[in-house]
Amino acid sequence: MNEYQKEMIMRELSTLKSHSPFYAQKYKDIEVENIKTQEEFEKLPFTDKADLREAYPLGLAAVPEKDIVRIHSSSGTTGTPVVIPYTKKDVEDWAIIFERCYVMAGVTDKDRIHITPGYGLWTAGIGFQAGCERLGAMAIPMGPGNTDKQLRMMEDLKSTVLCATSSYALLLSEEIKKRGIRDKLCLKKGIIGSERWGDKMRNSIANELGVDFYDIYGLTEIYGPGIGISCDYRNGIHMWDDYIYFEIIDPKTGKNLPDGEIGELVITTLRKEGAPLIRYRTHDLTRIIPGECPCGSRFPRIDIIVGRTDDMIKVKGVNMFPAQFEEILATMKDATSEYQIMIDHLEGKDIITVYFETNAVGDVREAAEKELMEKVKSKIGVTIVPKAVDIGYLPRSEKKTNRIFDNRY
Ligand code: ZN
Repeated sequence: MNEYQKEMIMRELSTLKSHSPFYAQKYKDIEVENIKTQEEFEKLPFTDKADLREAYPLGLAAVPEKDIVRIHSSSGTTGTPVVIPYTKKDVEDWAIIFERCYVMAGVTDKDRIHITPGYGLWTAGIGFQAGCERLGAMAIPMGPGNTDKQLRMMEDLKSTVLCATSSYALLLSEEIKKRGIRDKLCLKKGIIGSERWGDKMRNSIANELGVDFYDIYGLTEIYGPGIGISCDYRNGIHMWDDYIYFEIIDPKTGKNLPDGEIGELVITTLRKEGAPLIRYRTHDLTRIIPGECPCGSRFPRIDIIVGRTDDMIKVKGVNMFPAQFEEILATMKDATSEYQIMIDHLEGKDIITVYFETNAVGDVREAAEKELMEKVKSKIGVTIVPKAVDIGYLPRSEKKTNRIFDNRY
């Protein structure tokens, strides 16, 4: 926590309860106005999505209703939506940080920005649009769907920047390839919503489209997309730490983790008026990347989101999650991307068995097992039992495949 963040947080806390009925209730037994240090701040209870849901519809508002100029809402799968109120200043601030994202990606007022994320209650499209207009570039507000029209507009209007989710970028790139129209397009850059997708797939789409990709991060509860973006070095996401304060915590214990360790991203807003949030749990897994970025930006970095907290397991005191195993398998010549992890408790010890598919037989297969064991030991820090199996041995699923079976409890 730097001095500026500390000042902003303490100032926010000093009046929080008088503005926000939500936090007046949530922190009713805590004298938040007297919090003076980072240590005290780190003891404050987290805010979680379930809390926000309970405040439906407008219980999060921390300003008089006349000051609310817009709402956004994140749907969620469990029914009651979360509604986030924005003041005029919140909307402006969001455009300011979004403009910064474009600048970080080298987008200028000469660019034509093709915006495919949706418009509406969800925050995505309108954020891309507001940042674009503030920058002075030309917005092409497509929204999602209707691939024919997307490609026609992309061609005729000479879009130079594509904004999309990774899956939609994939779909468009496949369609462009199929129709053989790449040479007619003017795309130079892609700004892609940060989600976990393999480097292999990312590079192949980037090559297909002939563009440089930038990962943009955000969530509806905290403005929306645009609170951070990767730079030309693509080694993490620079976060706008003068608008948000972020921490990485152990999702199981809630304790703060040192820089470099993977845990859950927790965000506190520094300037939001409509719905300030204190220690909001994103459930996204990432880490703070220590040190300076070669690009020279002073803004600190988090890693690309590696998963969700629901995916995480703790074995032998070490937190681990599927993405780590996927990354290791991707570096192995004699392994496919199919794998399964079994965790058992035998004779007082946790045993991790990792099944992976391979074409290799005999000595090569044994060598692949040894390679996996050593790589897991050095990258994740646990000893596993590697088990190579034939291609097709592990179950396939059209839905999200369950990779981890924890048989300990
Ligand atoms: Zn950088």
